[in-house]
Amino acid sequence: MVDDKANNRLLLQTYLESAGYRVRLTASGEEALRSITENSPSLVLLDVMLPGINGYEACRILKLSKSHRGLPVVLVTALQGEEERVKGIEAGADDFIGRPIHRLELLTRVRSLLRIRRLHDELEQKILELEKAKIQLQQLAVTDGLTGLYNYQYFKHKLQIEVARSRRHGLPVSLLMMDIDHFKMYNDHFGHPLGDRVLRRFGNLLFEHVRQIDILSRYGGEEFALILPGTPKDASMIVAEKLRTLIEKSYFPLSEKLPFGRVTMSVGAACCPDDASTEEELVRKSDEALYRAKNEGRNRSVCA
Ligand code: GH3
Ligand code: MG
Ligand code: MG
Repeated sequence: MVDDKANNRLLLQTYLESAGYRVRLTASGEEALRSITENSPSLVLLDVMLPGINGYEACRILKLSKSHRGLPVVLVTALQGEEERVKGIEAGADDFIGRPIHRLELLTRVRSLLRIRRLHDELEQKILELEKAKIQLQQLAVTDGLTGLYNYQYFKHKLQIEVARSRRHGLPVSLLMMDIDHFKMYNDHFGHPLGDRVLRRFGNLLFEHVRQIDILSRYGGEEFALILPGTPKDASMIVAEKLRTLIEKSYFPLSEKLPFGRVTMSVGAACCPDDASTEEELVRKSDEALYRAKNEGRNRSVCA
């Protein structure tokens, strides 16, 4: 509450405290602005005629400040003319109380503004929650549930973008298709749940060893795709071999009991613009290369 006259302050304080409100008194616009920033009140009762910053100005400052956006401001004034009201509304005031002050009117206006304030706060809270939920949903929509990597939908979306970018800027983009060798055997030996654990570990290992700008996704089943923006063909083969040996050397639970004693993968690589000019062609070429890697004995990288 802001008023330069002690009597006015006392009267308002008595009325408000009798209704159970806690009141903080200030005597000037400057002091009020400081106190509001420090104490974050729920509502401000602002005398219009103040020395220094007057009520209109203080109100305008409050309404322009982002942190006090939802704070209701009531102008208290003996001036009842139309011009004063217009000035108050222009300054952003939420309500007016005329002098002499009637207790019941004061309390009714205060209560109703506080209710609006509460609704405003609840609305802001709900909007925040909705925005958070929206982000979570967007993440979920592009994520593979088993591995936490990007899913096929997102892969397709990003590949289109990266191929278009590569065409526009004349930069290469490579694609690696990686497929676990004889994975059916692992499932048959140890069951689907353990197979799932291998897929998760496999995905994590790859993820930890690719660059931040590379886009790793689960293409489907036990097949993974890696988009390498800005990477020419020879460099993509270095990446392919690095990842292939990483998997070959990594331990997967129970793999020692498999006929080949370890988990391995085959990789097919293709590059834009060397091997393809569209994303469909790029996928087809790296798939064909993967097929050759399988036919040539698995646990190897082959490029288009
Ligand atoms: P290849 O070396 O020719 O790739 O042999 P493969 O056995 O890996 O290939 P194939 O395509 O015949 O079998 C793929 C297997 O991957 C079959 C299926 O049981 C397994 N698989 C696919 N998706 C999942 C999954 O989400 N979880 C588990 N546990 N297994 C899966
Ligand atoms: Mg396989
Ligand atoms: Mg497969």
